[in-house]
Amino acid sequence: MRREKGNAFFIHTFGCQMNLADSGIITALLQQEGYVVADSDATAGIILLNTCAVRENAVDRVGHLLQHLHGQKKRNKHLIIGVVGCIPQHQREELFARYPAIDFLAGPDTYRTLPELIAQAQRGGKGATLAFNTAETYDGIEPVRQSAISAFVPVMRGCNNMCAYCVVPFTRGRERSQPFDSVVREVQNLAASGYREITLLGQNVNSYYDDRAVCDFAALLDAVSREAPQARIRFTTSHPKDISESLVRTIASRPNICNHIHLPVQSGSSRMLGMMNRGHTIEEYREKIALIRSLIPDVTLSTDIIAGFCGELEDDHKASLKLLSDVRFDAAYMFYYSTREGTLAAKTLEDDVPEAVKKRRLQEIIDLQNSISAELFCEAIGSVVEVLAESESRRSSAQLMGRTAGNRAVVFDRERYQPGDLLDVLVTGATSATLIGRLMHSGTHLSVNMR
Ligand code: SF4
Repeated sequence: MRREKGNAFFIHTFGCQMNLADSGIITALLQQEGYVVADSDATAGIILLNTCAVRENAVDRVGHLLQHLHGQKKRNKHLIIGVVGCIPQHQREELFARYPAIDFLAGPDTYRTLPELIAQAQRGGKGATLAFNTAETYDGIEPVRQSAISAFVPVMRGCNNMCAYCVVPFTRGRERSQPFDSVVREVQNLAASGYREITLLGQNVNSYYDDRAVCDFAALLDAVSREAPQARIRFTTSHPKDISESLVRTIASRPNICNHIHLPVQSGSSRMLGMMNRGHTIEEYREKIALIRSLIPDVTLSTDIIAGFCGELEDDHKASLKLLSDVRFDAAYMFYYSTREGTLAAKTLEDDVPEAVKKRRLQEIIDLQNSISAELFCEAIGSVVEVLAESESRRSSAQLMGRTAGNRAVVFDRERYQPGDLLDVLVTGATSATLIGRLMHSGTHLSVNMR
């Protein structure tokens, strides 16, 4: 085991849950080679930035960190800096030219080359491994997890859709699914280790398909929920066109599959959905919502929405507001559009909505969604919800923060309980993002029916 500072590594992770899961895979790969995890980047000899190219804000944060690390590298010429994940995939030359502190780049399909890239950097060379590899699912690598309560399990990688605004097909390549048997094995191990929540991950998770096992996402979800009956099962992110009736019936029929679906819509206007190349109309989206609600009456829904995409007119924006009012999502990730280099929109569409208009439309969306969330959360006051405690609350170590099966955050006085406990909580108050509660004193329990 190499223990000196030069072989201690620290990963800064940006972006989505998939990147967090990938950082766990990278950690496992490096530990296999004798590298050790450093407590912070100040004590590391190798610093990795696991990057996200989806939002401008995440790209800017990577740039700022690289500038800061440049100074650190001037003080310590042995420091090695690698940029991995989505950004290097389409900005190779630009990154090396702009940030001379970078020693190497690696894409999402080439993490197995990291020990080689680090060794090359230790010899003074720069390198990049960025090829797509549709056979790479990191099968057989048990990720190193940060939490002993909740685990992410990537079940598919990449995306075959070509949403016009999205960089993912260009940074993560074509879809490929983890073999059914490997996912089941990993879930069995997590269940045996006492994990209380397992989230199946994929850029387009519900298009999962294992040819050999002839198994789609509904069958995988069903199997996973049976292998870990004491764990809550979640999944993200779903594409509306791949929400099948059999998938909804599976969620409805298995008590430990959480009654929450994140279903990105992006716009309430069919015209915009066409320009975005989403592959469905808003009527079809509404039909999926109706199907979900008819089969899972207590479901909670969340979504993603973009304000001011290319060509968006005031009527399109009003259609987005109307969709929010009609569906009444619990929560939404809301952004205004900015061009991502290399996407279909960047190549073929004009980013013609003025920034001030984008910002005004986004604010209207945020204001409306916040008022809907606040109403829905207030409606929960007086009910008893089952909460999986996740952590101490940010405000006080005397309180715990947990989530309902519907993914609502709940804060309550902890008394004698710990993260990982499953507790009945009476909802006594609410904001637009959090329920406030009081323990019911039936104590912690291992419930099978987690609704
Ligand atoms: S479904 Fe669309 S938005 Fe989602 S990752 Fe694929 S291309 Fe991007």
